[in-house]
Amino acid sequence: MSERFVPSELPDPKPRPKCPYCNKELGDDPSFCSNCGKYLGNKGKQYKPLSDGRKKTIRLIVGAVLLVIFFVVFFFVNRRG
Ligand SMILES: [Zn+2]
Repeated sequence: MSERFVPSELPDPKPRPKCPYCNKELGDDPSFCSNCGKYLGNKGKQYKPLSDGRKKTIRLIVGAVLLVIFFVVFFFVNRRG
């Protein structure tokens, strides 16, 4: 081994998505171009559908919020007579 292996000098193994407007490689947030400031939405990012567990959690939260609202309304209606 005559040459030292320097990992930090290796090019990025994953090709980064490029901005369709200025063709500059996108940074950490591929939904937003840091060069020209254009919002790219999901174009640079692969769309990930919500997992079932996440959906369940959201449904639980929505249900809990609705329940709280229902109880608050019920409480105030009862208080007023
Ligand atoms: Zn751009």
